[in-house]
Amino acid sequence: MCFSTLLKKNMTTEQVTCKRCGNCCEKGGPALHSQDLQLVRSGKIPLRSLITIRKGELVHNPLAGKIQPVTVELVKIVGTGRQWDCCYYNKEVGCTVYEDRPFACRVLKCWDTEKILDLVEKDTLSRFDILYQDDPLIPVIKEHERMCACEDLGFIQSNLNRLSEQQKNELEKRVRSDLRFRTRVITDFQLKLSEELFYFGRPFFQLLQPLGVRISESPAGIHLVWGK
Ligand code: SF4
Ligand code: SF4
Repeated sequence: MCFSTLLKKNMTTEQVTCKRCGNCCEKGGPALHSQDLQLVRSGKIPLRSLITIRKGELVHNPLAGKIQPVTVELVKIVGTGRQWDCCYYNKEVGCTVYEDRPFACRVLKCWDTEKILDLVEKDTLSRFDILYQDDPLIPVIKEHERMCACEDLGFIQSNLNRLSEQQKNELEKRVRSDLRFRTRVITDFQLKLSEELFYFGRPFFQLLQPLGVRISESPAGIHLVWGK
């Protein structure tokens, strides 16, 4: 899900320039850094092309080489549909925003990953950096964070087989509250799905899926189903 996961093995090849092959773009869009703020503020990269990875979400960390909670909030270029491919990547023409591509894309050299790895979770943009201070959705985002934080996903991952019924029930309640909250806010602010992914990240139940937790729906409501 992150193009900085490109293999370090390329460092041993003779490659010295970018061949514009697009392999990095197919591994996922980049996280944005402070150098990218004007790209977003100017609309060259609009909010609908962004997805927020909230602090605590479980993502592949290329430095650690494993899935672990992200230590800061990230805003990334969204993938295409259900794929991770960067939404700006086109197999025929390559990057469709090449002149305005994000900082990480400029830094990435798949044959020498030192500089891109140096950028991991450093000087990144969050939603609060991107939005203007008087944006009416800022208090709504904060309300969502209070109601549906995901900073305990690392704990849940480590203790998956030891969670009490009460802890599971609380997670189920959080999934329901998150979905209710989104339904209300999408209506109130007339948000599209693409905008929802920027403002609130992915629904909480989706963040539990990599842990083998699914949802099922019955007339009584939504339930979590535990186990692969
Ligand atoms: S950085 Fe490497 S993987 Fe990415 S487009 Fe260039 S050659 Fe291909
Ligand atoms: S913005 Fe362009 S260069 Fe960067 S990952 Fe997407 S398609 Fe590739």
